[in-house]
Amino acid sequence: GKYTKEDIIRMVNEDDIKFIRMQFTDIFGQLKNVAITTSQIEKAVNNQIAIDGSSIEGFVRIQESDQYLYPDLDSFTILPWRPQYGKVARLICDVHNPDGTPFVGDPRYVLKKVLKEALDMGYTFNVGPECEFFLFQTDDSGNPITKTDDEAGYFDLGPLDRGEGTRREICMTLEEMGFEIEASHHEVAAGQHEIDFKYAEALQAADNIMTFKLAVKTLAQKNGQHATFMPKPIFGISGSGMHTNMSLFHDGKNVFYDENGNKGLSQEAFSFIAGLLKHVRGLCAITNPLVNSYKRLVPGYEAPCYLAWSASNRSALIRIPAARGQSTRVELRCPDPACNPYLTLAVCLAAGLDGIKNKLQPPAEVTENIFNMDAPTREKNGIASLPGSLEEAIVELNRDELIKQTLGDHVLTQYTLGKQAEWDEYKTRVSNWELEKYFIAY
Ligand code: ADP
Ligand code: GLU
Ligand code: MG
Ligand code: MG
Repeated sequence: GKYTKEDIIRMVNEDDIKFIRMQFTDIFGQLKNVAITTSQIEKAVNNQIAIDGSSIEGFVRIQESDQYLYPDLDSFTILPWRPQYGKVARLICDVHNPDGTPFVGDPRYVLKKVLKEALDMGYTFNVGPECEFFLFQTDDSGNPITKTDDEAGYFDLGPLDRGEGTRREICMTLEEMGFEIEASHHEVAAGQHEIDFKYAEALQAADNIMTFKLAVKTLAQKNGQHATFMPKPIFGISGSGMHTNMSLFHDGKNVFYDENGNKGLSQEAFSFIAGLLKHVRGLCAITNPLVNSYKRLVPGYEAPCYLAWSASNRSALIRIPAARGQSTRVELRCPDPACNPYLTLAVCLAAGLDGIKNKLQPPAEVTENIFNMDAPTREKNGIASLPGSLEEAIVELNRDELIKQTLGDHVLTQYTLGKQAEWDEYKTRVSNWELEKYFIAY
């Protein structure tokens, strides 16, 4: 690793750090932390900070609540938005049981297990996410309201774009934290934005996504705005995706690239695509975790709903961006930024590896705009659909042996229970749409 325990203790003392936030992520993708003061730093780097796991959703039962945080020392970074006098740093942690074994309900552990499997096959897994989000207005008390902060559109600039100041601050803050920012811009919908950062190995990429979301929310709030990663905040305009760009490397070389292969792609790339297509209905409950996620996955807004791949077509679920060589990658377009990134990368990698192990072949590429195809044409071309609702996605998840095994019993059970309860709660609610449609007519 980059840092030793001694490095951390030295940096904490030299940089006038007063607090260290010990962070981890729950099964449902919420970032959690406990702050310690520097007096506890020795304990912290020696894995002796305990938490009560029974109060974390989906973690453990009350009878077995003690858990320990094992910090990943390389994740050490100062939080630039906290006071600069008496600074705050953070460490991203793994969760362990009192006997020292890793806790099977820790999403970071779920990802690490699949990464190990990939490594045994000779692969490292690189991931570049494209996180979209909305900036909404706040009222006089600072509470969010459901009015977007501007009316601007794709690639617009100020004064139409009222997010440029916040985006600038986010980019500069993340650079201070070690991110390499590649691009940022206003997105298609009013109030919608995107900031792209450079791909990294999957564990770090997932950590980066958690850090990114925290930075975006914090800096938006500082600017009197409300940032949301809710997938479809407004009906009738684009939702927010988290397109996930993936590639496998071996000895520092991109395995998906083959200059003599069909489209410049290797057999591994095609099998990886085939594996994703085989399991995507089963992994959708992970990549698209909310009732609201399925309101984004509808035709007409550059979000996918049909199972197809293409070299260019943005209506397809899987797109192969034009770049080749080290940038050769598979872009999965269904994930949304409400997902737990650790679990998402775990299931995507497991699906892709399954394709490689079993030498699966994807169906033919679809070059037409699938949104313009009617149902019989799709059926004729063998194009299936993503789950249409969280309910359907939960059923599919529990039918896919590979995805179930990847998550493990604990996460699968807790996740299914939590998501089923979310669906049951939603399904009994009376919506505005129902009132508009039925209240007077009946
Ligand atoms: P799009 O063409 O969909 O707009 P972007 O340029 O916005 O794509 O985002 C591309 C993402 O892909 C970035 O995060 C970039 O770092 C990442 N990327 C580039 N090369 C690779 C690679 N070999 N493996 C994984 N991700 C990659
Ligand atoms: N916002 C679109 C989505 O929901 C994606 C737009 C894009 O291609 O950048 O996936
Ligand atoms: Mg985008
Ligand atoms: Mg994209």
